[in-house]
Amino acid sequence: MALLTATPAPTEHLSSVRPARLRDRYGRPIHYLRISLIDHCNLRCVYCMPEDENHFTPKTDLLTPAEIEAIARAAVSVGFDKIRLTGGEPTLRPDLVEIVERLAHIEGVRTLAMTTNGLLLTRLAKPLKEAGLTRVNIHLDTVNPERLRQLMLYNRFERVWEGILAAEAAGLTPIKLNAVVLRGYNDEDVADLAALTLERPWHVRFIEAMPLGPQATVALERYVSNQETKAHIEARFGPLEPAFDGQLVGEARMYRIPGALGLVGFISPVSEPYCDSCNRLRLTADGKMRLCLLTDHELDFRQTLRTGGEEALRELFVRAVKAKPVGHQLRSGIYPQIRGMSQIGG
Ligand code: SAM
Ligand code: SF4
Repeated sequence: MALLTATPAPTEHLSSVRPARLRDRYGRPIHYLRISLIDHCNLRCVYCMPEDENHFTPKTDLLTPAEIEAIARAAVSVGFDKIRLTGGEPTLRPDLVEIVERLAHIEGVRTLAMTTNGLLLTRLAKPLKEAGLTRVNIHLDTVNPERLRQLMLYNRFERVWEGILAAEAAGLTPIKLNAVVLRGYNDEDVADLAALTLERPWHVRFIEAMPLGPQATVALERYVSNQETKAHIEARFGPLEPAFDGQLVGEARMYRIPGALGLVGFISPVSEPYCDSCNRLRLTADGKMRLCLLTDHELDFRQTLRTGGEEALRELFVRAVKAKPVGHQLRSGIYPQIRGMSQIGG
């Protein structure tokens, strides 16, 4: 493919000359690309994917490693500098290490991260680090094995735990754990999760459930605000101390339990939308660019990649950034329908 060029620069060796970041119509700099590698998953978390889901993008329709690299190169050429791989479950891609290697060698990629449920990290953490992955976010909703079974439909807690330790040992740090909180499932477990930060330099972040796709009703009916989650944690540990001057770090507001090594964070897209600081676009596994997680507007990057050249892709990035919606409309009761979270990647 004409678009592909192998360059020897790993993520650590960046050129000092970077293209200016694109800004959208609302002045937001857009420089963070999330890439979903696959919509298949080895779990069925109740707020994400129906238990009986069996319609997935056929392998032949998934973007290939070369196509992912081409789109990422076009992104970097218009100022993107952060990439996150996600899914579905990204570790189910047999070519994951190759994809990481290709992306890590793009000059200008400052951060190359991945979001995963951690089940396959014991095997993959080291090769991924060696291929150039910077860090991982691992999804863990509870440390209670029985409730893990109810919420993530998985009964081997120790495997997730070993995956987290493998990521830490491989240097994919800081370790960030993500927990979606649902009433009646894990809302009583949040203080136990936060307690993981007492003696470990980990970031444990609580995410409000968002209603989208086929599991929207679960998220709506079981929703717990992060104000409530924070109060629950403070009932055990006392007032949390704001970290980073109380400013948003990405989409999270970070705190510390007094004396703890790690941090506790709150990602509150429903109760405290952070759309005015949104900096990202999302590429789906079948090559559509989603302009906002919670809005069904997409542009077909795969089609442009296959029919146009590198310049056409760059132009499409500019169009995508300009077309980015101002924010979601959950408060007006408008929920995205065409894809669930596992088909976008969070
Ligand atoms: N399978 C990987 C994982 O679980 O981390 C990556 C994909 S998953 C869709 C990415 C993130 O989205 C996870 O942290 C998951 O908890 C979160 N997520 C899934 N459904 C959600 C929902 N309805 N509301 C909020 N977060 C959700
Ligand atoms: Fe799979 Fe992640 Fe969705 Fe859970 S949240 S079902 S692990 S894609």
